[in-house]
Amino acid sequence: MKDEDRFLRFLSVLIIHRMLKRARQREYYDSHKEQCKGYVDPEKAREATRQYWKRHPEKASANAKRWHQNNPDKAKESVKRWQKSNPDKVKIIHKRKAFRKRNAEGNFTLEEWNAKLEEYNYKCAYCGCELNSDTITVDHRIPLSRGGTNYIGNLVPACKSCNSKKHTKTPEEYLMQLEGSV
Ligand SMILES: [Zn+2]
Repeated sequence: MKDEDRFLRFLSVLIIHRMLKRARQREYYDSHKEQCKGYVDPEKAREATRQYWKRHPEKASANAKRWHQNNPDKAKESVKRWQKSNPDKVKIIHKRKAFRKRNAEGNFTLEEWNAKLEEYNYKCAYCGCELNSDTITVDHRIPLSRGGTNYIGNLVPACKSCNSKKHTKTPEEYLMQLEGSV
């Protein structure tokens, strides 16, 4: 037998074996549907659940609320875990609370802030330096003390240095100072 023929034969045997195996699995599944339920690909099952909650956001939030009420300890743990792996988001949430306490008008969402960061390419709105979780701050373009709001339109990402130097100046006043000091 030629090598080529031998290889083709090997290949067809392999394919037939696979087909038989798959057919056996299918047959087993069909006759044990109930028992097999728990053995569905867990990743696929999770994805299906995620899609379901996405389609029914009101049910999802009601369900989450119920779970939090029934599992206060687990809920605390999961919040802690989330906070630990999302330090930047936690920072923004704290900022948002602090801003609200200052009685200024307006509010913003995490999504709005993330879009803003992307718009500015994760760079300081004033000096253009790259921002990281240590240097990033939320700057009120028009300072609260001069009638600015907490709406996203009045907020930009700025580095710590610019934010503290700008203080109660408007962007124009601060940029003039920046140019003058170069
Ligand atoms: Zn800066």
